[in-house]
Amino acid sequence: MKLTICHLYGNLMNTYGDNGNLLMLKHHCKLRGIEVESKLISIGDEFNPNEFDLMMFGGGQDYEQKIVSEDLQLKKEAITEFIESNGVVLGICGGFQLLGHYYINAAGDKLPGIGAIDYYTINQENNRYTGDVEIYNEEFNETYLGYENHSGRTFLGENVNPLGKVKKGFGNNNEDKTEGCHYKNVFCSYFHGPMLVKNQHLANRLIDLAIKRQENLKK
Ligand code: GLN
Repeated sequence: MKLTICHLYGNLMNTYGDNGNLLMLKHHCKLRGIEVESKLISIGDEFNPNEFDLMMFGGGQDYEQKIVSEDLQLKKEAITEFIESNGVVLGICGGFQLLGHYYINAAGDKLPGIGAIDYYTINQENNRYTGDVEIYNEEFNETYLGYENHSGRTFLGENVNPLGKVKKGFGNNNEDKTEGCHYKNVFCSYFHGPMLVKNQHLANRLIDLAIKRQENLKK
């Protein structure tokens, strides 16, 4: 058994140790005897949706996000195809924002996302949501813990589930108690920390889903 992980813009989108999520996935694969290979896909690289089992897209500052948002438009169809074919994705903060319709940054620029999932992110004046955060996912009966630091305020479309309900902290927008999103095999969140270190049950869920998908594709 072998899993191939795409580290999307891992050299630009790696705020607050988000790269640690990749190390955590590798660690758990090793514990479970699964071979793992990761590949950095960044500016100007082609993303082949058939090459990967899992994708990790970390957070970034507004500066990096602007560069990434432009390049992403060239990968839009391929990433959407990956998501629609049940590819497993972990999207954190800035990466989460850019998988949706758009992100209006602190300067008021509207950065296009890829619209693969129905949500959008707006800005707020002179404020950031920072601090410890705790959410509860009803579907899995699991609690996730993390640390958030974002100015963006994300609003999910009607048919998009959050990753969890906010128990402590601000979450997507400090208004509707949603945090992150869960769509097909895509798990997005504002949690840094890195997220999978504090939430190892989620790391194993991502690995389980990637294995299941690979087996289904072989049938
Ligand atoms: N720049 C985005 C925001 O402030 C994302 C930040 C991040 O990834 N930590 O909302």
